[in-house]
Amino acid sequence: MNKKDFILSLFFPKRCKFCEKVIDYREHICKECEESLPIIEGDVCSKCGCEKAFCNCGEKSRYYMSVCAPYYYSGPPREAIKHLKFRNAKHLADGLADDMVSCFNERYKDLEFDFCTFVPAHKSTIKMRGYNQAELLCRSFSEKTGIPFSDLLQKDFKTPSQHTLNESTRKGNLLGAFSLRHKMKESIRDARILLCDDIKTTGSTLDECAKTLLINGAAEVRCITLCVTKNDKK
Ligand SMILES: [Zn+2]
Ligand SMILES: [Zn+2]
Repeated sequence: MNKKDFILSLFFPKRCKFCEKVIDYREHICKECEESLPIIEGDVCSKCGCEKAFCNCGEKSRYYMSVCAPYYYSGPPREAIKHLKFRNAKHLADGLADDMVSCFNERYKDLEFDFCTFVPAHKSTIKMRGYNQAELLCRSFSEKTGIPFSDLLQKDFKTPSQHTLNESTRKGNLLGAFSLRHKMKESIRDARILLCDDIKTTGSTLDECAKTLLINGAAEVRCITLCVTKNDKK
């Protein structure tokens, strides 16, 4: 560390990107978070993003081709998402997007994409929160990977929070909730699109967005999220 960086670090101490605890400038995350990271690794199911031991995809068909995520939705990444979503911690998005980039480089490295886009929020949600966390992750991801960012979708009506519903009502809850933004049809024709979100639970939201992109002419949609919920068992 040079002198300038050292002085800066006194005023702006380095913080863990998950829990925001002050850490040594040589570290990226704190010891506690590092030890409890729910990393997804090894033999992973590309359809649900879980390790194969926890896959319960069965015959379920999806509009999107695949999902990848660096973490399960628990521990430090879950806390970080909660801060990002509900406690105005917009500054966390950049560090979290780094982990999505690493996952991308590992699992999607041989694929090509024309655009990356994100799961939109209804304008009333954005008004209340001030931003859409999926968009922040996607913008940062785009800057780091060079995949062009495009704001393609909009959410046309407010739906009850997905986490308040069971799986079968989740799907119906979103029917027709998304549409392609005005004048975007030309740009997505035959495009390979990477769809970003903070978390995948049942996959219904990603699937409804993928469907909207495909019926408007996209060639292929794959997804990337920071977390996926771990299926209990097969
Ligand atoms: Zn931490
Ligand atoms: Zn699976």
